[in-house]
Amino acid sequence: MLYQRSSQLFAEAEKVIPGGVNSPVRAFKAVGGTPIFVQRAKGAYMYDEDGNRLIDYINSWGPMILGHAFEPVVQAVIEKAKLGTSFGMPTELETQIAALAVSMVPNIDKIRFVNSGTEACMSAVRLARGYTKKDKIIKFAGCYHGHSDSFLIQAGSGAVTFGSPNSPGVTAGTAKDTLLAKYNDLESVKILIEANKNEIATIIVEPVAGNMGCIPPNNGFLEGLRQLCTDNGILLIFDEVMTGFRLARGGVQELLNVDADIICFGKVIGGGLPVGAFAARAEIMDYLAPLGPVYQAGTLSGNPLAMAAGLAMLQALNNDAAIFERLEEKTAYLHKGIDAVLKANNVVYTINRIGSMISVHFDATPVVDFKTAANGDNETFKKFFHGLLQEGIYIAPSAYETWFITDALTYEDLDFTIRAIDKVSKTF
Ligand SMILES: *Cc1c(COP(=O)(O)O)cnc(C)c1O
Repeated sequence: MLYQRSSQLFAEAEKVIPGGVNSPVRAFKAVGGTPIFVQRAKGAYMYDEDGNRLIDYINSWGPMILGHAFEPVVQAVIEKAKLGTSFGMPTELETQIAALAVSMVPNIDKIRFVNSGTEACMSAVRLARGYTKKDKIIKFAGCYHGHSDSFLIQAGSGAVTFGSPNSPGVTAGTAKDTLLAKYNDLESVKILIEANKNEIATIIVEPVAGNMGCIPPNNGFLEGLRQLCTDNGILLIFDEVMTGFRLARGGVQELLNVDADIICFGKVIGGGLPVGAFAARAEIMDYLAPLGPVYQAGTLSGNPLAMAAGLAMLQALNNDAAIFERLEEKTAYLHKGIDAVLKANNVVYTINRIGSMISVHFDATPVVDFKTAANGDNETFKKFFHGLLQEGIYIAPSAYETWFITDALTYEDLDFTIRAIDKVSKTF
């Protein structure tokens, strides 16, 4: 495959956009080479500016769970666009999608829509702080909650007790209120709670981690967090931006039967348009302006095009009784196939999977947290990534990303992918 035009377009982009991209994960920094410019997409395939067809395992990093250019979403957006694209006033559509989301997700009464997952998580934490009248938060190393200041804190060695900023621009003052725990390690959470008695407003967690590869929670981890929060007057935030409306109709709360206090959404809920949302019991949500004292707002929040896309997406998921089972079956099939060919080619690897999320790690030890996720062999991953690209298969250009399975993928696509992985893994 040739990427001549993509390379030219990237060179042009670099002159006027930092790094040529509007979100850093799109650059090929971790794998080398230049990003591929997409011209259009349909179903399971993207078509790039050089005319190559790519089987897509990223799906816009999650949203396109029913495939690209899903007809009901496209139609809904076109119809709404003709009626005006933004009013800054309430529309009936907002209530329709809110009511549907509330009916699908357990344990929430009210939901507020924003424009991104970042906004959802940022606002959820502010709400939790306002509601509990406490300042500190606990997050887990390797969990991603968007790019707002409080979350850009990562574990340095031994930095379990005191966060330190890992992005310039995040002040030490902000960093000191974010405490870092280890994913799948309740003891690390207990220590932080003990050391910061009555100061912790919230624990925010990806209930299934998806931003360091896919890492399902160990048995008892989420239940343990729930109990610690209840016992200590801490609100539990499930960041379901990735898992919401993907792993089950009601997300991880339903799938693993654990209740959180505030849930964050993004990705699938917008059907491919810029949408985020956060939701909770009425008592918590009514703490938001204009009813309550915690301020949160947005000129384009609840935008009609975004709401139309999101509503069409949620309706399609809600009306398809077998969708999550079907996605799981496809992903399990892919898992089995990859497992067999990597084994046959004596590759050292670990595969993690839950529902329609799967990740391949080039290391033999179980991947259960950030440290074990970081053990993977990046040189092998680079060969894997570029090898698959040559075969017309697009996975994320980073070893730390989950693959997202879309319903548009056929078993022929999956077989094609498994054969390609067989071929590529012979070159390691
Ligand atoms: C993608 C993601 C976010 C951030 O969402 P954006 O829409 O990119 O701002 C937050 N949390 C999780 C778990 C995510 O996967």
